[in-house]
Amino acid sequence: MKKVVKFGGSSLADAKQFQKVADIIHADPDRRYVIPSAPGKRFDGDTKVTDMLYECYRIASAGGDYTEALNRIRERYEEIRTELDIKADLDKEFETIKNNIEAGAAVDYLASRGEYLNGILLSSYLGFEFVDPADVIFFNKDGVFDEARTDAVLPKRLKDLPNAVIPGFYGRAADGSVKTFSRGGSDITGSIVARGVHADLYENWTDVDGFLVTDPRIVDNPAVIRTLTYREMRELSYMGASVLHEEAVFPLRKEGIPVNVRNTNAPDAPGTMIVESTCAKPDYVITGIGGKKGFVSITIEKDLMNSEIGFGRKVLQVFEENGLSFEHTPSGIDTFTIYVSQEEFAPKEQNVIAGLHRAVKPDLIELESDLALIAVVGRGMRKTRGTAGRIFSALAHARVNVKMIDQGSSELNIIIGVENADFEKTIKAIYDIFVVTKI
Ligand code: ASP
Repeated sequence: MKKVVKFGGSSLADAKQFQKVADIIHADPDRRYVIPSAPGKRFDGDTKVTDMLYECYRIASAGGDYTEALNRIRERYEEIRTELDIKADLDKEFETIKNNIEAGAAVDYLASRGEYLNGILLSSYLGFEFVDPADVIFFNKDGVFDEARTDAVLPKRLKDLPNAVIPGFYGRAADGSVKTFSRGGSDITGSIVARGVHADLYENWTDVDGFLVTDPRIVDNPAVIRTLTYREMRELSYMGASVLHEEAVFPLRKEGIPVNVRNTNAPDAPGTMIVESTCAKPDYVITGIGGKKGFVSITIEKDLMNSEIGFGRKVLQVFEENGLSFEHTPSGIDTFTIYVSQEEFAPKEQNVIAGLHRAVKPDLIELESDLALIAVVGRGMRKTRGTAGRIFSALAHARVNVKMIDQGSSELNIIIGVENADFEKTIKAIYDIFVVTKI
């Protein structure tokens, strides 16, 4: 069995967390390849090292004195190094970083040093080989992850290493410079490495017990989802759940490698398994409830719309021309409604309305703002009768006025549109009916 294990920033924020991580790794010899993030927040209000590095870059690139900013970063690592008595030459590392800043190093280089330095410390602490991702993970000239080149190098480099620490978040660009993934990108590094070594399991260690059925800011102590499919995760991530970086799924899906999201601070909890497909029965009919506020609906009315060929295309073209992506398009015989993000729509509102008038000559255009969309997601819904009935009777009891209903053809989700003001109430009512009372 071969496992790739990724530890997020809060799992490696200080010496105490480093010890927990080492205990977890030493507890299972299959945990062979380790992907660290940069040190994260140690307490509420603390600053992540990556953010400190971006700030340091900002000062340096404006020609300011960045010494103080860089020193504060150094202190974070120095503290870990001295507390754990790690043999690592931080003087040399910071000298190199300083020289590179002076030579005009780019923002990605500086941002990547958070993971790089944490990798140096962790590899020495664990006694594992250090592999710099700049030597094994590549981007093409468009800045997109270069799978072919990475596949030709990464597996070979790791093949004969019993263990290794490979820092997350960055690789090498086509021009030879260091390039980072988007924020939270160490998750992607982990899945690239998992695929590269054909891992049996990718463990993603963080500071929560796994994927939660819903947002803990809305429901107290929501249940943990034990098994989640990639598709369910995609639906929930899109609707606001952020445990694993969205792009981390793609390399894993290609090989069907499962992910186990675990909590570094509660290592005995089983966490959430994310899998391609499963016969495992979900604990509840629904797997999760996600949601987002801030949508606007644009309803277009026109008599005999349903017989006008090309009507939908012309409407959507107006949105396309205005650079707006739409979320949902519920329609009736003579009405067509488009849901879009309010923030994106607001500055383009009048252009869109004028465009619609020109394109389809509607009888009426009606706008409704401050709407929320809630996604009830679950592979179990397909086999269960009455799920929708239960959702909507729960919402009627909670006195929520439902504005829109959309059941995806995969039957994996039901999307409900309500007013922003009813958002929390809606999620609580659905959670109650399926998870608390389990009826
Ligand atoms: N340290 C980087 C960030 O804060 C990458 C990561 O943690 O995955 O975004």
